[in-house]
Amino acid sequence: MKTYIKHHPWEIVEEGFDPHLNKISESIFSLGNGRMGQRANFEEKYSGEMHQGSYVAGVYYPDKTRVGWWKNGYPEYFAKVLNAPSWIGIWIAIGGEELDLATWKVSDFKRVLDMKGGILHRSFNATSPSGKEIKIHSQRFCSMADGEIGAIRYSVMPVNFSGKARITLTVDADVVNKDSNYDEKFWNAVSQEADSGHAIVVAETRKTFFHVATGMMHNLASSKANAKEKYAENTVDVELTQGAEFVIEKFGAVLSSENHPKDKLVARCYEKLKAGREAGFQKLLEAHKGAWGAKWEMCDITIDGDVAAQQGIRFNIFQMLQTYTGDDERLNIGPKGFTGEKYGGSTYWDTEAYCLPFYLGTSDPKVARNLLIYRYKHLPKAIENGQKLGFTGGAAFYPFVTMNGEECHNEWEITFEEIHRTSAMAYAMRDYIDYTGDEAYLSEYGLEVLIGISRFWAQRVNWSSDKKKYVILGVTGPNEYENNVNNNWYTNTLGAWTLEFTLAAIDKVKQQSATRFAEIAKKTSFDEGKETSSWKQIVANMYYPFDENRGVILQQDGFLDKPILTVNDLRPEDRPINQKWSWDRILRSCFIKQADVLQGIYLFEERFDKTTIKKNFDFYEPMTVHESSLSPCVHAILASVIGYKEKAYEMYLRTARLDLDDYNNDTEDGCHITSMAGTWMSVVKGFGGMRVKNGTLHFTPFIPDQWKSYSFRLEFRDRIIKVEVAKDAVTTVLEDGEPIDVFINGSKKTVAKT
Ligand code: BGC
Repeated sequence: MKTYIKHHPWEIVEEGFDPHLNKISESIFSLGNGRMGQRANFEEKYSGEMHQGSYVAGVYYPDKTRVGWWKNGYPEYFAKVLNAPSWIGIWIAIGGEELDLATWKVSDFKRVLDMKGGILHRSFNATSPSGKEIKIHSQRFCSMADGEIGAIRYSVMPVNFSGKARITLTVDADVVNKDSNYDEKFWNAVSQEADSGHAIVVAETRKTFFHVATGMMHNLASSKANAKEKYAENTVDVELTQGAEFVIEKFGAVLSSENHPKDKLVARCYEKLKAGREAGFQKLLEAHKGAWGAKWEMCDITIDGDVAAQQGIRFNIFQMLQTYTGDDERLNIGPKGFTGEKYGGSTYWDTEAYCLPFYLGTSDPKVARNLLIYRYKHLPKAIENGQKLGFTGGAAFYPFVTMNGEECHNEWEITFEEIHRTSAMAYAMRDYIDYTGDEAYLSEYGLEVLIGISRFWAQRVNWSSDKKKYVILGVTGPNEYENNVNNNWYTNTLGAWTLEFTLAAIDKVKQQSATRFAEIAKKTSFDEGKETSSWKQIVANMYYPFDENRGVILQQDGFLDKPILTVNDLRPEDRPINQKWSWDRILRSCFIKQADVLQGIYLFEERFDKTTIKKNFDFYEPMTVHESSLSPCVHAILASVIGYKEKAYEMYLRTARLDLDDYNNDTEDGCHITSMAGTWMSVVKGFGGMRVKNGTLHFTPFIPDQWKSYSFRLEFRDRIIKVEVAKDAVTTVLEDGEPIDVFINGSKKTVAKT
């Protein structure tokens, strides 16, 4: 854990330059706009430890799988979000000495991420080895108003001299992925051009053949141009005057063949840059700030009385909004967003299980619908994934990690065994329909997916003649610190629930339109009588492990054979266990990576009374090491349900400040984007107690002792409702739409505009 980030309600602030923290800060101070993003790398050259990172949404590379022992069914490749060409370079040389924070003396270093405006500021003084001191201030953004453009205002002021400087403005496509399996470069050169005023480099991804044009223009006169393979630059010689600011405005554009014909990329990139330069930094900035303003208007959560908590929630919301804007159904939410390379592919079950509620609550329903349709489009691939593992007859096995629907994760215990993820797609439908009331989704898209997933479960279970029940063997539950277990309760629950949900969906679609149902049945070769009767059998006879003595659900068969310890029994030097212990030791221990039984209780809360939730929470939480970023938020929500206010607050802070305080010692790899949606849920579903029951909003709010008040807005069925919770009052205000009934602590209240 680190505490160098200063607390501030709207800003992320780092004061003083510590090269050891640089990679962490590069992640935390990242910028993005849904189309492109970049780590907070310096504009100037830097010879110290850094991780250069620029990313373009949807552009990936299928890196050939590397494993020691090949297992049938492993995917051929692991799709990687690509480290992409960079347009930010502004190199400064003073009388032949190149500015480099690793070798110059640095003072008054300050890095500020202005979350309200989406702007990265950096200022510092630097003294060259020969004693020349300059003051730098840079401001940078990736425009939220136009996802293909960004800009930098970079000022240089000589402090103790006047003299010549050489400024080099670069576009660099000679970039590498640190996580490349075979140390290959993933980009081929297509073209590069530069004249005295602009530079554009087009590069092509190997194997996937995406083209990306990356270009820059600037405000400086009479520059020299130079271009070579995968690289182009402009060089300008200027006279600097002591005490006077010299300002560079640099405009960057990134256009991909996902959105433009390949043969038009250069011309369009040029036009975009020209328009940017004509508008100028200030005007582009105003438009960008305006777009952020509109986002914050809807998505902000205010917390009064606790700056650390306020900064935490805003940082999480900021990163969510930077990562996915919801206007392109081909895109999804990568676990690291635009902040790092780790986790490769873009889509995990995280999207459905964690991110969807955030977009449901804060955006037009079409955003969440787009996320569902993304998986609908992957249905044929999910069926292929199933076939690769021996499933037949249209059984859909959704991948654990994917870019285009194909599985690209290759660890047997996850790829083959962490099968619960395929039902996250079904649960997301339930969430979406409960929240929006859009049942038509089932006939339009949903039922086809549900039939596919149900077929998977019907083949994956087997009848145990010993137990006289259906069992599911050889799985990994959400707790990845247990592999190849039998009857993981979460998995069995999700499997049977999916079958039940599909049976109900069939009835609904039939009611909506018999013709449409017949079409779906034909398209999916659905043998309704035979298939549904087998599903009903499974639902009625599924086995669920339970310990009668303790009255708790069992995570899996045999769980109680383990030495039952708590996290307090671990020595501090043993943690995190995933970095300190052998895998064998982890597997034999009772320690839990992330919510597993509790994840199931969270998803199906309506099935359990508070005493049962409490019993299970008291049993499992003390064994949970929360070494997945997905863990604390679920615990914050359940702790809220059972009135464990302190625990809920502890878990909230852990999820909200996970990256800001580097809790898991891994922020340098990138931020934990998907768990950030969990932070939003911790406030809205946890402290606010928001639930949708029979199409109506319910709240059972409480306020952590440390807070004076908090507020959030929800977009719900054509209304915008603001909820404010203070120590002694809960206020609901209708900001848009027709009056609506809501329940607060069980009492009905009509919310209307005043
Ligand atoms: C978690 C998974 C999650 C993945 C990506 C892993 O550490 O155990 O549940 O899907 O990270 O966030």
